[in-house]
Amino acid sequence: MIDFLELLKLDQTAKITCGETAQLQWAWLGEGILQFRPHRDSDTSLVLSAGIHGNETAPIELLAQLCQDLLQDKLTLNVNLLCVLGNPLAIRAGVRYVEYDMNRMFCGAYQQLESVIETQRAEYLEQLLCDFYLSDAKTKRYHLDLHTAIRKSYLETFALLPFQQRAYDTQLLQAIEAAELDAVVYHQAVGTTFTHFSSSKLQAESVTLELGKAKSFGENNLSDFNAIDLVIRQFVEAKDFSARKKPVIRHFKVVDSIVKTVEDFQLNLADDAPNFTEFHFGDVIATQNHAAQQAIDYVAHLKSVFILFPNNHVKIGLRAALVLEELELT
Ligand SMILES: [Zn+2]
Repeated sequence: MIDFLELLKLDQTAKITCGETAQLQWAWLGEGILQFRPHRDSDTSLVLSAGIHGNETAPIELLAQLCQDLLQDKLTLNVNLLCVLGNPLAIRAGVRYVEYDMNRMFCGAYQQLESVIETQRAEYLEQLLCDFYLSDAKTKRYHLDLHTAIRKSYLETFALLPFQQRAYDTQLLQAIEAAELDAVVYHQAVGTTFTHFSSSKLQAESVTLELGKAKSFGENNLSDFNAIDLVIRQFVEAKDFSARKKPVIRHFKVVDSIVKTVEDFQLNLADDAPNFTEFHFGDVIATQNHAAQQAIDYVAHLKSVFILFPNNHVKIGLRAALVLEELELT
């Protein structure tokens, strides 16, 4: 039986690249890419991706197990499904990325970088999703991009919804709730993530899921991921999602991003500060340009803001943190 993760880890090509079971046809389309079609037509096309960051192993293992269960007919397939392991080079090396962060190079942003294996992979993945969704243009499109984080977080699991002008899909929002995530974050500007690409260029209902701590292969306690695993399986089986058991999910929108413009830029946060660290009105969140005595401090401008993905060490011109406001939904 084909195991696309094992092949990828061994840097091998599949000897048999397609086949079928009682319920489905499968095809290995290339390194880390496995496509499934049920024998019965489906009205949904789902992309599940993991390993865009190579060291985020738990979602990679979840996806590999899901594929095994499908191939053994232990799980019913009721959608057209494309499973993607994003960055094979980085997965083999056990690192987030080798040359450039792949989740900053979609929507064609790879064209601004020198051509390396990772930029070529991003270009290939864009074309792959195009071909997959357009092969049956009438189906409803979904894309879940699965991640884990190195950094601690006050809210450990959360969803990031790409900016889009159309309303967010009800079924996708239900899936996020059912996955027992702590928070959902709405982007307010276009980006260069994988889900921004699938949402804006291919009108997929897309979400980036941050599912907890990143660990090495073999060190994950996959039971920590039971809720999202169940939701993914319900998606694949086209079943209703389970009811949420956790407290009400918290909603945030991105209100600003703090960009590092000079070398002495400093966030007023420890390097290992957790995500969703809170600042209050008037608090200094970042300082820069002190050497030139033209200090430009970044000060909290709302009663309360929360910092996501802080990073003092980004290159000049890049985002050092996202600033969030919590939304009070009634
Ligand atoms: Zn990631």
